[in-house]
Amino acid sequence: MIYDVVIIGGGVIGCCIARTLSKYDIKIALLEKEADIASGTTKANSGVVHAGYAAEREYIKRDMCIKGNKMYTQAAEELNFPFQRIGSFVVALEDGQIKELEEERNNGIQDGIIGLELILDKTKIKHMEPNLTDDVVGVLHAPSAGIVSPYEMTFALAENAAMNGVKFFRNHKVRRIRHQNYIFELKTKKGVFKAHNVINAAGLFASKISKMVGLDYFDLMPRKGEYILFDRNAMHLNKILFPTATKVSKGILVCPTAHGNTFVGPNAQNISDKEDTTTTEAGLKEILEGARKLVPKLPGRASIRNFAGLRAIPNTYDFIIDNTDVYGFINVAGILSPGLTSCYAIAERVTEYLELLGVDLKSNDKYNPIRPKPELFTNFSKDELDQKIRKDPAWGRIICRCETIPEKEILNAIHAPVGATTVDGVKFRCRPGMGRCQGGFCRPRVMEILARELNIPYQEVTKKSEDSYYLISKTKDELLRKIESGE
Ligand SMILES: Cc1cc2nc3c(=O)[nH]c(=O)nc-3n(C[C@H](O)[C@H](O)[C@H](O)COP(=O)(O)OP(=O)(O)OC[C@H]3O[C@@H](n4cnc5c(N)ncnc54)[C@H](O)[C@@H]3O)c2cc1C
Repeated sequence: MIYDVVIIGGGVIGCCIARTLSKYDIKIALLEKEADIASGTTKANSGVVHAGYAAEREYIKRDMCIKGNKMYTQAAEELNFPFQRIGSFVVALEDGQIKELEEERNNGIQDGIIGLELILDKTKIKHMEPNLTDDVVGVLHAPSAGIVSPYEMTFALAENAAMNGVKFFRNHKVRRIRHQNYIFELKTKKGVFKAHNVINAAGLFASKISKMVGLDYFDLMPRKGEYILFDRNAMHLNKILFPTATKVSKGILVCPTAHGNTFVGPNAQNISDKEDTTTTEAGLKEILEGARKLVPKLPGRASIRNFAGLRAIPNTYDFIIDNTDVYGFINVAGILSPGLTSCYAIAERVTEYLELLGVDLKSNDKYNPIRPKPELFTNFSKDELDQKIRKDPAWGRIICRCETIPEKEILNAIHAPVGATTVDGVKFRCRPGMGRCQGGFCRPRVMEILARELNIPYQEVTKKSEDSYYLISKTKDELLRKIESGE
């Protein structure tokens, strides 16, 4: 079979393009090298839906961000992912910074960002965000900014795309691409995929993919950002808090997650290894000190996890969204921040490019934009729960006590379209292991459920990739093997 479109990369960009194109009656496949989608940059970022005033006006990322932000309301209604427009503050701690905020506000208003206001009344500011430092002299308030769970949104996009006919192939790393007679042949270890058009959304590895078709015109540098996540009970923030930005970064923010935890970060370190997501003592110290300039009473001891994400920084410092000289090959690369915010606008631009390439974009009559809202134990009343448990006892078996996740939610995550096949896949879809104990109690039980539902041996359950095993063998099997071999 020859696909009309093959998308390389199952991050938020690839999945958003897949879901947008699923409105049309064309054959689409998405190839992802990891065991799950949302395994790259999309998994570890700030999850902020930016208002759009921050990027320089000559960059397309500014335009994409402003448009993308506005598209979130409809997307969240249709796809039912966690998203709240709580608004952001850019915080000035010195009088000299107010001028910069004023300029950002004026440019932002001219570019159509709704509701931007400069607030200099300290009492009003502290009323809106009581945790903010007393040193604040003014804030730029952007009410259209929001918080989203980036991976849950990506799972929702993929589920909806799959419901509408897109085929997902995980553990399918594209190794080579041949282009002959206007047909692309993409080689993976598990087979060859043919396509008339290819969309390269391979994140940090997009330059490598581009070179496979002879297009060597950009480089991507990994820039690491570390984070500290706090227990949900540590503090409650009303707003996303940014310091006044520097040239390389928006600075270290203090922010609530879509599930009510607080996190701080990221810093910005240029590195060379595109897979190095380790955290360092110095980096964590840097972000905690930076964050305390905005929120002095951050409780360091309430941290439950440190992690890092990698930005794909292009040499142009702007998004690369190109209908290239290789007919039918579209690069969607260098999607640094605010890529998460911009994804719906980027997908729209890619659709326009396909139209220019002559792809027949007839509507898909069976297209349904709604991805049903996941049923959550914590959203039910006592009576509703009683009914649910009577019908299906899996609603009553709590597997993760920190986050109150019953077996039924895990089963739903595994059996969803493009469902979970690994422990991290379950964790990122429905949260067992996200709480205070970080999976200490629930992990073995999640593994049991995965083994049973996927019909694989317990020791073959992996954390996140094809070879990330938790177990080597059963204790007695190893003992018997040693006795038999005389070791
Ligand atoms: C620290 C940090 C903070 C950020 N904060 C924000 C924010 O608050 N708001 C915002 O809007 N944006 C933010 N961003 C940017 C945002 O996270 C990215 O723009 C977005 O996640 C990019 O998604 P992607 O799909 O391009 O890349 P990825 O998520 O990396 O997806 C690319 C996928 O391609 C796959 N792949 C690679 N090579 C191959 C191959 N050969 N074959 C098959 N598959 C392959 C990878 O495994 C990966 O899954 C932040 C980024 C970072 C790092």
